[in-house]
Amino acid sequence: MYRTEKISEVKEHVRKWKREGKTIGLVPTMGYLHEGHGSLIKRAREENDIVIVSDFVNPIQFGPKEDLATYPRDFEADCALCESIGADLIFHPEPEEMYAPDFCSHVGVETLSEHLCGARRPVHFNGVCTVVTKLFMISEADRAYFGQKDAQQLAIVRRMVRDLNYNIEIVGCPIVREEDGLAKSSRNTYMSPMERKAAVVLHKALSRAEEEVRQGEKDANKIRRIISDIIEEEPLAKIDYVEVVDWNELQPIERIDGPVLVAIAVFIGKVRLIDNFIVE
Ligand code: AMP
Repeated sequence: MYRTEKISEVKEHVRKWKREGKTIGLVPTMGYLHEGHGSLIKRAREENDIVIVSDFVNPIQFGPKEDLATYPRDFEADCALCESIGADLIFHPEPEEMYAPDFCSHVGVETLSEHLCGARRPVHFNGVCTVVTKLFMISEADRAYFGQKDAQQLAIVRRMVRDLNYNIEIVGCPIVREEDGLAKSSRNTYMSPMERKAAVVLHKALSRAEEEVRQGEKDANKIRRIISDIIEEEPLAKIDYVEVVDWNELQPIERIDGPVLVAIAVFIGKVRLIDNFIVE
């Protein structure tokens, strides 16, 4: 497996692979990889000749009060995981390699960024769209793999690709969970053992709500209430949002009568966790 911090070196490899007629799958990550990332890399491995993993904590998608400085990192462990799945290249740039001092171009998607995490993290999705665009251009990937864990991100990237005619296929992958149902996340390591136990309430609340939706409940407010009631019983949990939105435009709805995304963000102590389910 190649490791590089340089855009020019990735491009050199890509030129050679393209000359050989190989297909390329890209898995964009912020590192500190776990089995959730692993599932994306495995899927990319199955569907492409070449697999590129990017491992970059993207500063422009963090707000000033967010956890950029403390975001967990372990590049050697990331390399070991990528190598064990058979990735061909891991791209691990420094911020200066990605952003020149006079960098001033950004990509953004409107409407779909208005609610959910977009409403609480104003610069976040423009930062994501911008870095993802750069990674698409650098890797010339045929396919890119994103987790449903970050459902709003998946929807926004898909819309960007459609609206702006990017030559890439976006592949969405299911959420990988711990045994007790907590969605795997690099941020789970921030929690104390007590908080970790409390964190299972996200999955508990969503599972209960999903059952209701699948049994035909149409009242979105009732779904919001079921989730809030369960989470509010957990003293260590504080709700950031509980949202029911249509799974096309990500706008809040009153009645569930089409594909729906039910998404939540909850603080467990200082750690902000997200989770969701989609009923198509
Ligand atoms: P991150 O490193 O958190 O930016 O995540 C990189 C990619 O991995 C994103 O597309 C995430 O949605 C995906 N991902 C993170 N956690 C999980 C998980 N538990 N299950 C599936 N995909 C995940």
